[in-house]
Amino acid sequence: MIEPASPADEDRRLAALRALRILDTPSEERFDRITRTARRMFGVPIALITLVDGDRQWFKSCQGLGVNETARSISFCGHAILNDAPMVVADAAADPRFHDNPLVTGDPNIRFYAGCPLKSPDGAKLGTLCLIGREPRTFSTEEVVALQDLAAWAEGELSQVRLGETQLALIQERDEFKRRAMIDALTQVWNRGTIIEILKAEVARAARQSHALSVAMVDCDRFKEINDTQGHAAGDAVLRELAQRFRGAIRAYDAVGRYGGEEFLVVLPDCTSPPARALSERLREGVAGAAFEAGKGKLAVTVSVGVATMDRGAVATAEDLVAAADDALYRAKAAGRNRVETA
Ligand code: GH3
Ligand code: MG
Ligand code: MG
Repeated sequence: MIEPASPADEDRRLAALRALRILDTPSEERFDRITRTARRMFGVPIALITLVDGDRQWFKSCQGLGVNETARSISFCGHAILNDAPMVVADAAADPRFHDNPLVTGDPNIRFYAGCPLKSPDGAKLGTLCLIGREPRTFSTEEVVALQDLAAWAEGELSQVRLGETQLALIQERDEFKRRAMIDALTQVWNRGTIIEILKAEVARAARQSHALSVAMVDCDRFKEINDTQGHAAGDAVLRELAQRFRGAIRAYDAVGRYGGEEFLVVLPDCTSPPARALSERLREGVAGAAFEAGKGKLAVTVSVGVATMDRGAVATAEDLVAAADDALYRAKAAGRNRVETA
């Protein structure tokens, strides 16, 4: 195995990457959309948007893999950022750089790799959009061009920030190491402590500006059964997919966090009860409407949702809102599950 070399402009490259303040932030739909498209378009099991940090590659978006980062020393992307053109490895087992790489000889058993460098506006290579397959494969010139098109889309998204004020402030006031502790490692959404912190900040803001605020407590139905019949790993895959579907259904300034094992809290700033209910219906339908690829095959999953709203000018605490949403969720469960109930 050959470890990736350090690019000539490594210091400048890392400075450009850090300036984006994107490392260790939650996954976002605008990036997931790109990796989903890539996976479908090229028919590969794994597609990633990776950012190559000093000693690791970290995934801003990840389809088909259960981890969020790997060491840079064993990364394919560390090699891919050394050149401007996409790097294609048709068969990793026959490539002296990779044949005995642990990602090739063991999980996820990479055989095919194609990665296009993602550049900052001033040309620093931040990471890649990459495709990974478990079988050797050739990659045509047309496919290289198509991958470059998707990479340009990802570069456009990297140059923008699309989080709401409260979430952005949280990210900006903390350094990278503190940020790592704010994200749920399995699902790449905010963790419990952080989503509660976001809710408290939004309650204060709603009171100050006399806005409405809603929350949705979303709980996976009969999740224990999924674990029992499909295995814990399949349960984990369902949780990751749930988080991704929720991210896809909310607005950029809404926040989603993992509140408990299979329970998610969605904070909806400036949102009255009717739209909160409509959004919760979309969350529910987004899960029930399409089977999950987890475990032994396709899996039907449903969620129940409890919605609570603090009306304009009303006085409430974060605890009041969570308790009211929990209460509504309990009623949704009692009424048969796969339902939305409002407090
Ligand atoms: P209900 O429809 O009433 O919500 O039923 P349920 O089975 O979803 O509810 P219950 O609270 O009994 O089960 C939740 C299960 O979630 C139990 C726990 O083992 C499992 N769980 C919690 N965290 C994780 C996790 O990180 N991964 C996996 N695979 N399972 C988890
Ligand atoms: Mg449950
Ligand atoms: Mg639960």
